[in-house]
This record gives sequence, structure tokens and C-alpha cells, in this order.
Amino acid sequence: MPDADAHPLLDVLLAGGSRADRLTHLRTLPAREGVTTDWPTWADPALVEAYRTLGVERPWVHQATAATAAWEGHHVALATSTGSGKSLAFWLPALTAIGRTLPPQQRGAVLYLSPTKALAADQLAALERVLAAMPDDAGRDLRVATCDGDTPTEERRWVQDYADAVLTNPDFLHFSLLPNHRRWSRFLRALRYVVVDEGHTYRGVFGAHVSLVLRRLARLVEHYRGGALTFVVASATSAEPAASAARLLGMGPDDVVAITEDASPSGRRTVALWQPPELASFGFSRSGADDVAADGDPWALPDPLDASHSEAEQTAVVTADGAADHPRRSATAEVADLLADLAAHGARTLAFTRSRRGAESVAQTARDHLRPISTELSQRIAAYRGGYLPEERRELEQAIRTGALLGLATTNALELGVDISGLDAVLIAGWPGTRMSLWQQAGRAGRAGAEGLVAFVAREDPLDTYLVTHPEAVFDAPLEATVFDPTNRYVLAPQLCAAAQEVPLRTEDLDRFGDPEQVRMLLDELVEAGALRRRPSGWYWTHAQPAAGMADLRGSGGRPVRVVEAATGRLLGTVDAGSADGQVHDGAVYVHQGTTFVVDHLDLEDRVALVVRRDVDHGTWSREVMTVAIDETAELREREWGPISWGVGPVEVTSQVISFERRRLPDMQVLGTEQLDLPERSLATKAVWWSVPEFVLRAAGLDADVVPGALHAAEHASIGLLPLLATCDRWDLGGVSTELHADTGEATVFVYDAYPGGAGFAERGYELGATWLRATRDAIAACPCDHGCPACVQSPKCGNYNAPLDKAAAVTLLDAVLGHAPTS
Ligand SMILES: [Zn+2]
Ligand SMILES: [Zn+2]
Repeated sequence: MPDADAHPLLDVLLAGGSRADRLTHLRTLPAREGVTTDWPTWADPALVEAYRTLGVERPWVHQATAATAAWEGHHVALATSTGSGKSLAFWLPALTAIGRTLPPQQRGAVLYLSPTKALAADQLAALERVLAAMPDDAGRDLRVATCDGDTPTEERRWVQDYADAVLTNPDFLHFSLLPNHRRWSRFLRALRYVVVDEGHTYRGVFGAHVSLVLRRLARLVEHYRGGALTFVVASATSAEPAASAARLLGMGPDDVVAITEDASPSGRRTVALWQPPELASFGFSRSGADDVAADGDPWALPDPLDASHSEAEQTAVVTADGAADHPRRSATAEVADLLADLAAHGARTLAFTRSRRGAESVAQTARDHLRPISTELSQRIAAYRGGYLPEERRELEQAIRTGALLGLATTNALELGVDISGLDAVLIAGWPGTRMSLWQQAGRAGRAGAEGLVAFVAREDPLDTYLVTHPEAVFDAPLEATVFDPTNRYVLAPQLCAAAQEVPLRTEDLDRFGDPEQVRMLLDELVEAGALRRRPSGWYWTHAQPAAGMADLRGSGGRPVRVVEAATGRLLGTVDAGSADGQVHDGAVYVHQGTTFVVDHLDLEDRVALVVRRDVDHGTWSREVMTVAIDETAELREREWGPISWGVGPVEVTSQVISFERRRLPDMQVLGTEQLDLPERSLATKAVWWSVPEFVLRAAGLDADVVPGALHAAEHASIGLLPLLATCDRWDLGGVSTELHADTGEATVFVYDAYPGGAGFAERGYELGATWLRATRDAIAACPCDHGCPACVQSPKCGNYNAPLDKAAAVTLLDAVLGHAPTS
């Protein structure tokens, strides 16, 4: 029970004690005193005066230390909390280095990179406030601008010819600035500082690409100027920021100075871990698909609408089968209640959700709760997400800052950049993926001298369940390191082609892109495949089309399929390439904003699914078969735990959607099955696997008939738990389990990276094998359900309708495997 010292708003969450059983843990994080220092003497006095005018009398120690290190030419990794003023730390040296009073030929230039266009625009707005505050109109001497894919040609010319500081994103660098470097030669010659903001977002395949894009940039600057660049990587508080920044920049960890000591003040924070009640005990009933949809998306991906349909449908199947013994209330419904209650008590609150639909749903539900109390109050709740117009977003940000709005339900669109902090409370509906994100979001609550309240509300998911019942995994585990692999050949090959097109690659360039021997081997392969041409002076790109077009930085796996209403030609939405076969095959039911359509024809060539508006009494569920083959020609890493074998390395995952079922809603009765004629898809990636010989299974009492269910359940739960150890999401992973695998000759569970070439997550699973499986085993065993539920062994994206699954046998299996794990 909360003590007398507890946060005053905690009682609002607990509703006078009636919700006390939902609180699984409470922790108070102490306040931190701020420590300031003198302004560095090298800084442009007009700039210092501008910051003073804006209220920064003296900088925090970490700001001054980072700024001076960068000024002295060190690469800097600055990893401090939200609202700790990282921008000042990089703009102070970067803008000073421009030399605003110098003639044009002698001025320096700055490139600022953020992961999204919107953030670059936010940063520009903040920067313009600083420039406007400089005395004697000195800010006019500094020409700053954003430039991205939307910038009109005319404006782009101006930026190329005159801008001192350019704010953009890595995609623009990759597709436009670097390939057109001749137009940017003035800028590249002047470039002194490159700021990589929100550096922790560069992970997985995206991180690997951005890492190589930055190396292409450094090579071109050397080509034009011969001098070196100074990089400042600003990121959320994370593990090993210097090592991550060094990997991103292609340097050694000793080449980067890490500044991690946060000297900005923060108020005391109370953090609650929260589990929504079981629906039965709460007096709720859940009926088929409707309730799931109305509750928002318990599983949803951060964005596309389409992915969340399949999730909701799969959850509905589970419920109808009666397999979920005691389903719990969804996190979004719970958070909507809490948001309404906090707002009713005048507390300014942010509620983070996992999807755009979730944000809309939380805001709507909270407004509905408040309307009977006061219409005025209900109007002080709003949603905030990607897809809104910039002006609308600015208005919402301003309204929550001033308190005109009391509650904002938001996606992670508010996690990065946007300057909103010092709120009374932050609610987090569903694990945001990493501890790093959790603390970024939590950091919006509390300010110096005022306490903040944070509640993390679990979804029905093995990872969320595990976390709210294992507080040490939230509070005491080290923060994640950002995981990405710039040597991934699927990333490196197109990047080398892009580099070769910019300026032919020479032998002395190779070590910039990785181990020179391996880079050379890959170049030889590219020559053999006709992508590059080898000449005595180097490697050349001789094709007419731009090489940058070969790489899709964000790894979205091809063009999405458009969903078009056949009768009107109206575009309803899109389905990403990877899930089109399973979601918009011929005969599939496609739901859009509550309206049902049936797919008449999926045209894979034209990437379009033609749909017809039709009221139907059923939904459709596709079945997919999947196989994994280990690439035996590649170098595998393997180890033994007695009879248990582990491996990690390249695999080929082959999948095919072969049929679908029509099931009546809401009782899910199967109305019929139809075969489909869709092509096999294959993905070359990296997997981690563990295999168990038959005698171990038998000794553990696992008979042949329960083995498939045990393996499948263990596979699902382990996929749900891997994000605990690697910087990834369950959606970044896939899995296959089989009682007899052709390559291992034993019962085997595979978990693979769902990106061509892999993304480093399977590697993490291999390295932390025992920790990973132990957490998996504990999560399954600790779940109070009888036969498995979404919180333990069921998966929202199973291609096999979550069958067979055997919860008890999975625990027995994992115990048998872990019994052979090394004890350390
Ligand atoms: Zn369960
Ligand atoms: Zn499955």
C-alpha cells in the first residue's frame, strides 16, 4: 500500500483503493539537483546572450562539457535525459564555428540530421527562436534552413548556394544530397559539424543503412576538402553510447567522447507498474471481434492500419476458442479510464499508446467518460499522432504546454524531440519496446520542485506481463544498447554501389566501410553480378539509373499493395508488401473504419487489391506454411549445452500462404476453407536456434504427441521475450518450430530477424541464450491461465491459428533444456 509520502495523484489512480489490486509495484525515483557552470569563453557572445534572453542564465555542466569537447574537434556522444537541453550543447559549437562575420568563402557549415522531417521542422523552429534573440539582429548573419524531399527546387538551390546550417533526414542525404554532391559542393567544402540527433533511433536495418550513409558523407567531405568532420551524436540515455556512436560513425570507441552525466535538475518521480483486471472479475464480457476493435488494438504496430486488423482478428479467434481462460481488460481501455480520472482532478497528463488507432481510441473514450461530468472538461482531452498536419500538431503541443489541454493521448510521435515536459503524469499503455523508450516517455512527467507520476499499464502480452511482475527488469536492468550491423551484406552491397556512383571507390576507401578484406570480396561479387565495373583505378558504377535506388533505408520490403474500391477507384488504404498475401488475397474480408469489403482480385504485378463493398457475416483467416533452411555453406556459430545444441547464422526462410478459412462472427464457427494459389516468398536472414534430441524429450516425460505444442508454445513466448534483451519489437522477429528439422535432425526452435540479411537481434538471442530462455520459462510458468493465453504462449501473428499450443509441456521442455545450461 502507498505510504504517506506517496504521490498525491496516486490515490486518483487507485480510486480510493478500489483499484489497489491492479498496482503490481511502486517505486519512487529521487529528485536530482541541477548543476550549472560558466559559459565557455570560446562561444559566440551574441549566441550566449540569446540563450540568456531565452532564460538560460548559465548552462548545465553536461551542456558546457559536450559543447567544449565538440569545439575542440572531438566526436561527441551526448546521452542524457529528455529535456536536458541537448540542442544547446551542439548548436553552441556548431553555430559559433560557422563564423557568421566571415566572408562567404571562409565560413563553416553545419548539417543536422533527425530521423523524421517533422523533427527537423521542430528543431528549425527552436533554432529560429535562438537566432531571433541574438542582439543587434546578429541572427540574420546565420542562414539556416530545412531541406528534404518536399523542398521545391528553387528553395533547394538557395540552400545549396547559401545555407550555413541545413536540417534534414538520412533519407534525403541518401537519395538526394550525396548523389547530387556536385550541386552541394559549396556546402560540403564548408561542412565542419554533423549533428546526428535522436541517435538511438538508428537501430536494426535502418541503423545499418544510416551508418553507411554517414560514411559516404565523410568520404565526400574528404574528397572536397581533405579535412575531417566533427560528429555530435545526441541520444536518449542508453547503454554504451560511445560504442554505439562509434559503430554508427565507423570509428573506434576511443575516438568518441561520451558525455552521460546529466546535470539538469529533475523532480521526484513515482513509477507505478499496473496490470488491468480480468474481464470476468471486472463485470465485462468480451464478445467476438467487436469488443477487441472497440478497445483499440491490444497488439497493434505503431502504425499501419492494416497490420492491426490481422492482430485483432487473431485475438478474436483465441477468445472464441475459449483458450484465453481469464482475459484481461485491454491496456487502452484501462488507460482511458485513468486519463479521465487524472484530468478530472486537474492533472496535466500524457497517455502513450502503441498505435495511431490506440491514441484516437484513448482520447475518445476519456472524453466520453468526462462528458457527463463537464462538457468543458471533456474538450480538454485530445489525440496526437503522426498523420496530423504540422499546424495542428503545433497547436496541440502549445495547448498541452499552457494547460489549455489537460490530457493528450499520443503515439510515440511525442517521444522524440518535441519540447514538452514537466507534466503531472504520464501513462504508458503497453511496453514501448525498450527501457530506453520507457524512460524517454516517463521523462515527460515531473519538473524541478514538482513530483511526477508515471504508470506503465501492461497489455495482454508475455513481455508486458513479465515486466509488471518483475519490477527489477524495468528498474534495475541495464538500458539497451542500440543493435545494428553495418557489415550486413544486404545493406552494405547497395551502399557500396551508391558510394561508387558518387566517386569511384578506391582501395584506400575500403576500410571506411568495414573489414577491407570482406569489403573487397563483396565488391568482387558485385563486379561478377554486373553491378559494378572494376578498372585499375577502382570500382565504378556505370549504369544509367541511380544506385541509391537499390537501397530502401527503412527496410519496408518492397512497395506496399494499394487497396482500391473496384466500383469507384477510391484508394482505401495500403497493406505493406510483407503481409499482403495473408491479408488481401482473393476472397479476404478487409475491414476499413468499421466498413467491410471483400477482395475481388489481388494483382501482385500492379500491387493492387480490388475490393467490393459487401456486408458479410464472416471474417477470413489465412494459413501460411513456413520452413527454415540453415545455410550450411556459411560460417555458423554453434555451442553445446550437453545434449542441447545452439546455433546462429544465415538461414533461408520460405513461406507461402496456402489457404484461408471463413469463420462466422462472432462465434467463429468455420464456414469453409479455400485453397489459394500464391507464390512462395523467401527471405535470406539470420536466425538463432536451439535443438533437443529425442532422448532428452522422452526423459522429461514429453511424448511425441505433446512435443509440437510444447515447441510451438516455447517459440511464441520466446519471441515475445526477446525484445527484453535486444533493441527490437516482437514484430521485428519471426519463428518456426518443428519436431524434426532436416538440418539439425532434432526437435528445433528457430527465431529469426524479419529483415533481409538480418538485423542483429538473433545474434543477441544467441549471446544471451540462458537468460532469454529462463525469462521465457518464468513468464509462461507465472501466467495464471490454465491452457495458455495471449499473455503467455499465444501469438498475435501466428500463421497457424495458435495451434497446437501446450503451455504445461512448454514449461517442462524449457526446464529440460535449461537443466543443461551452464551455471553462471
Ligand atoms: Zn497465460
Ligand atoms: Zn505460431
